[in-house]
Amino acid sequence: MPIYCDHHATTPVDERVLDAMLPYLRETFGNAASRGHAHGRAARDAVEGAREQVASLLGARAREIIFTSGATESDNLALLGVMCRSDGSAAGHLVTQATEHPAVLDTCDELTRRGARVTRLPVDPVGRVSPSALADGLDEDTRLVSVMLCNNEVGTVQDINALARVERPTGALFHCDAAQGLGLLPLDVGVTPVDLVSVSAHKLYGPKGVGALYVRASARPRLRPVVFGGGHEDGLRSGTANVPGIVGLGAAAQLAREEGASDALRIARLRDRLWASLSELEEVRRFGDSAHAHPGNLCVGFGYTDAAALLLALEPHVSVASGAACSTHKSAPSHVLMALGVTGDWLRSSVRFGLGRSTTESEVDEVASHVKAAVGALRARSPLFRARGTPLDW
Ligand SMILES: *Cc1c(COP(=O)(O)O)cnc(C)c1O
Repeated sequence: MPIYCDHHATTPVDERVLDAMLPYLRETFGNAASRGHAHGRAARDAVEGAREQVASLLGARAREIIFTSGATESDNLALLGVMCRSDGSAAGHLVTQATEHPAVLDTCDELTRRGARVTRLPVDPVGRVSPSALADGLDEDTRLVSVMLCNNEVGTVQDINALARVERPTGALFHCDAAQGLGLLPLDVGVTPVDLVSVSAHKLYGPKGVGALYVRASARPRLRPVVFGGGHEDGLRSGTANVPGIVGLGAAAQLAREEGASDALRIARLRDRLWASLSELEEVRRFGDSAHAHPGNLCVGFGYTDAAALLLALEPHVSVASGAACSTHKSAPSHVLMALGVTGDWLRSSVRFGLGRSTTESEVDEVASHVKAAVGALRARSPLFRARGTPLDW
């Protein structure tokens, strides 16, 4: 298999997480809502243990954690749950920002269709939202602010601490999509006054199809469910609990709490090594904010190089993503790069490298040499590259 360099798309399940999950796929198969017998109670105990583990990663209380199917659902629950009335219509004003994940931006479009007003704040050229821009974006009707912890394409880390401290005179809640970066970057709800936080297990070396929404106890009365049924998860997310998945998320959260800080340091060093090597090429640009970046993220534009052709050339050796095609089936230029003010052919030149827990130094060196060789070969065939001399776009 090629070297895996796409940890923003998903991470492999850590062996220790898998070991924690297996008993709940085998012998301990009970329904966590079956209160009347030992099988059910064993499942419920496991779910409640995982709730403690996830809460502990965030500095929250266990009862503030709602298990969901992933960060997409958590984002939907946060946004629709705060903004919608019981008849499904939406009211009031929501402030978000331009580089959010489609799970937030598409939900905002839906809220607009249902009658809410949405402001999408612009970002600066490295992808950050300033606290003063957020303050200016609030109005007399603002009910919710939604800003991600860390961007999944260019890796920019928002100053959530400062943004969440911006005074919200209307008492608007603050939601943070922390799917990207949680476990590597600190986020403590005891320190940072966020009310809602979306979590995804498979971005955290846990399994796919499970996640969580942190709901601050004081915000709980302002949230309505999106899924109805048996009233599971404090009435916010009905449906039989995915016990093995939840146990996996709990184990992944515990590992992140124990090892996340040291992982982050090691992975950032590898990322810097990769950039040091790739930046020896002519006509390359790094997108995002190198001073506030996800430790594993490197999003690079290779001038005079079509990212799709580069990905094809790299395919046998390295699994990477084109920064321009993060939302799978859409081939439109990346809304993130456009929000950063990237223009022209640079929009189709970017490759997103995502390093992770298992990435090694020798892998990074191998990736760099494959990329340099492939970029060199593509450029050798490019008349534009040979005739370059006009800067900017080509
Ligand atoms: C992956 C991701 C999501 C979606 O998470 P799922 O658990 O796959 O639904 C949402 N937001 C961000 C920033 C992500 O990176």
